[in-house]
Amino acid sequence: MSIYKDAKYMDVPFEEKQKLFDQVKGDMRWDHIFNGCYECGICVAACPSARFYDFSPRVFVQTLEREDIDTFYELMNDSVWDCSQCFSCTRCPRESNPGALITVMREVAVNNGLNSAKEALKAYSRIIYKIMSTGTQVAPDMLQPDAFPDWGPHVKEISDNLEYWRRALPPETLHTVELAWDVSVETRLELFMIWKLTGNLEMIENIDEGIFMILEEVMEELLEEHGYDLDDYENVIED
Ligand code: SF4
Ligand code: SF4
Repeated sequence: MSIYKDAKYMDVPFEEKQKLFDQVKGDMRWDHIFNGCYECGICVAACPSARFYDFSPRVFVQTLEREDIDTFYELMNDSVWDCSQCFSCTRCPRESNPGALITVMREVAVNNGLNSAKEALKAYSRIIYKIMSTGTQVAPDMLQPDAFPDWGPHVKEISDNLEYWRRALPPETLHTVELAWDVSVETRLELFMIWKLTGNLEMIENIDEGIFMILEEVMEELLEEHGYDLDDYENVIED
């Protein structure tokens, strides 16, 4: 039974919830990050998200400890996305790590394509695309006047002449507007292979098939253009 009075997910079969719980508990990090809870509240006092949201790292650890499957599922769909992953909660005297437990829960949510994961990550699709295709998170061409009204008229002036501003910067690697800085094709290839071989691309496919397809297409085209054969490269790494 969920600890929440207005439990939202009671129509989801218990077996489905249990399956996700087992995946969290079966994660190879579990024994290092879960040691139960004294209910001391130190993690809550240290947690920035607890100040702004109806959120408590202590509730996560206690829910996992009690194996309260309904509450676990509720947390996995809602509160799990309110953690800012700062790891201030690692000062737990019991040596539990609520932030890391939340990381595992998020990964399980993504791997299982939960709608809540899709919704939570929708707003980050452009950033995910940038990071996965270039290794840089933001680019100067994201500087759009509409998005930064509090910057006043200067933002328009700068965005209209962005290429000139960027060329005025001393390091040549910053003379670009589509990336935060120039990233060599070798680095992009390496990154792409890391995403692929560590299963991160597969995770993206589970939550946003559109981005996954664009990423694969764009990266494969880029690699081909620079004379790399992805299959050969993959075989070398796998060997
Ligand atoms: S700091 Fe550790 S022991 Fe204390 S409430 Fe948080 S999880 Fe429980
Ligand atoms: S990692 Fe998450 S749960 Fe831990 S203190 Fe930071 S915001 Fe709170």
